[in-house]
Amino acid sequence: MSEFKGWYCAHCECGVDSSDVTFNEAHTVCGRIITDDEPPAPTSRPQIVTELVGALNYLLEQTVDQDLAHGLELTEGEMDARQRAIRAIEKAGGAS
Ligand SMILES: [Zn+2]
Repeated sequence: MSEFKGWYCAHCECGVDSSDVTFNEAHTVCGRIITDDEPPAPTSRPQIVTELVGALNYLLEQTVDQDLAHGLELTEGEMDARQRAIRAIEKAGGAS
């Protein structure tokens, strides 16, 4: 006896209620046959967030942070972009 795990649609990227699955295992919303669809591993999203935060942080270090370290004044746009990037990194739980 196999364990019932519920339905998942890879096209809609969401769980599917059994009432939205037809007799031939198609998702009623999009029509996809979801017999073999499995939800992504729970680590897939945090992993990409970690990579994005790391890349953004590295970008800051190599660009505007370098300018600041060398006493170069940032433009208004650069200051704004740096603040936004720092806030986003903090929201995501910080770099490293
Ligand atoms: Zn679907």
